[in-house]
Amino acid sequence: MNKKTLILIKPDGLVKSLTGNILTRLSETKLEIIAAKIVNVSEELAREHYKHLQDKPFFNELISYLQGGLHDRQKVMAMVYWGDIAIQKVRELAGATNPEEAEPTSIRGAYGRITSKGVYENVVHASSDEKEAEREIKLWFKPNEIIYDVYPTETKTLDQVSKRVWV
Ligand code: UDP
Ligand code: MG
Repeated sequence: MNKKTLILIKPDGLVKSLTGNILTRLSETKLEIIAAKIVNVSEELAREHYKHLQDKPFFNELISYLQGGLHDRQKVMAMVYWGDIAIQKVRELAGATNPEEAEPTSIRGAYGRITSKGVYENVVHASSDEKEAEREIKLWFKPNEIIYDVYPTETKTLDQVSKRVWV
């Protein structure tokens, strides 16, 4: 079911103080926000997220971009939005991948740019289809970080798992 989508506010969006603006734009979709967190993106997570682009010449630069290496801001805001036709609604609001080709009123068209190294700094990520949405949501979030049961889960008892806790 096309009901949920992953959105990332990339490091350029955070550095440019666009978070509030982007959340306001997203509220135009009337979708419901069902998960949100700030993530310090590991290289492993960045590579897994963009693994479909690993053969591209800009791949390493893209990984550095998502990790905040181009912006001195090692974090992204990750969110799951829920509602009818969520994927298309958010993709349309985000605009085309290339910020120069994106509608000027879209988020990428308004705030994106192309770096001198050719990377599209386009402010947000939005899942492209249902399969990718599922893969990405499961990559970025654990089941109990999302307020609805968006995918089937099971309860496992794990032995010898180390967990960081408050002292
Ligand atoms: N990207 C880029 N140059 C390209 C294509 C993509 O820098 O020619 C970057 C851009 O930041 C984009 C990300 O790689 O958002 C992922 O690319 P994808 O083709 O999945 O586009 P998206 O789904 O983000 O629109
Ligand atoms: Mg994509």
